[in-house]
Amino acid sequence: MAEQFGFAGAVDGSSVHDLVIVGAGPAGLAAAVYAASEGLDVLVLETNAPGGQAGTSSRIENYLGFSAGISGKLLAARAFTQANKFGAKFAVAPSGVRYRRSDIPGVERFQGTSVSHAATYLEAQLCGGEEVAVVGGANSAGQAVVFLARTVRHVHMLVRGASLAESMSRYLIRCIEELPNVTVRTRTRIVALEGTGPGRGALAPFAVTLRPRPHRGTGVR
Ligand SMILES: Cc1cc2nc3c(=O)[nH]c(=O)nc-3n(C[C@H](O)[C@H](O)[C@H](O)COP(=O)(O)OP(=O)(O)OC[C@H]3O[C@@H](n4cnc5c(N)ncnc54)[C@H](O)[C@@H]3O)c2cc1C
Repeated sequence: MAEQFGFAGAVDGSSVHDLVIVGAGPAGLAAAVYAASEGLDVLVLETNAPGGQAGTSSRIENYLGFSAGISGKLLAARAFTQANKFGAKFAVAPSGVRYRRSDIPGVERFQGTSVSHAATYLEAQLCGGEEVAVVGGANSAGQAVVFLARTVRHVHMLVRGASLAESMSRYLIRCIEELPNVTVRTRTRIVALEGTGPGRGALAPFAVTLRPRPHRGTGVR
C-alpha cells in the first residue's frame, strides 16, 4: 500500500498497523485521534503537510469548540499533537502542491508578483495599503477578503454568480457586509489583465478589465 501511495521509502514495510489513514486533513487527523485513543496502532500517510485544505485557512469560525475561531494552521498543529499523544504515527512524503491555474489571458506574466493563489500573511504585507481584487465567491475567497481587508485599502470581490448566498456560508456573508472597504461585484468576471509586467522584485502595477456576465437580471452591482 505504501508503495502504491508513493511512501515506499518513508514507511517501514515490516511493521503491521491496525489502521492506515491516507491524508492528514481534518478528517484524517480526527480519525487518527479517535482510533489511537482507543488503543489502535495507527499510521497516517500524508503527501503534503498535516492540516489539508483547512491548514490554509486564515480563520475557521465554524469548527466545534472554537467559538472565537481558530486559524487552520493552529487547528492542524493541535490535532497533530493530540494524535501523537495517543501514539499515532505519521509518514509525510512531500510531493508539493499543484493549484488549479486561472485561464485569464496573460495571467502568467503576473504570476508570483501581482497575482497570487493564496492570501497569507505574506500577501497581506505585500498588498498593505493597496487596492486588491479577490476572485471567487465561495468560502475560501470570503475568508481571503475578510483577512485582507484588515491591511489593504480596498478589496473588490469579483463573483461570477448572482449573489454570495449561492456559495458562501451565511456567517461569512455577514462579516463581509459589515466591512466598509469591500465592494462585492456579482455577475462579474475578469477578461484581461493589463500592466507593465513584473518589476525587479517589486509588485507590477496593473489594471484589471472587468466585464459583466450576460444574464437576465437587474444589472451589475
Ligand atoms: C482556504 C480555505 C478555507 C476554508 N475554510 C473553511 C471554514 O472556515 N470552515 C469549513 O467548514 N471549511 C472550510 N474549508 C473547507 C475545509 O478545509 C475542508 O472541507 C476540509 O479540509 C476537508 O477535510 P478532509 O480531511 O476531508 O480533506 P482535505 O483537507 O482535502 O485533506 C486531504 C489530505 O489528504 C492528503 N492526500 C491526498 N491524497 C493523498 C495521498 N495519495 N497520499 C497521502 N495523502 C494524500 C492531502 O495532502 C491533504 O492533506 C476551507 C478550505 C480552504 C481551502
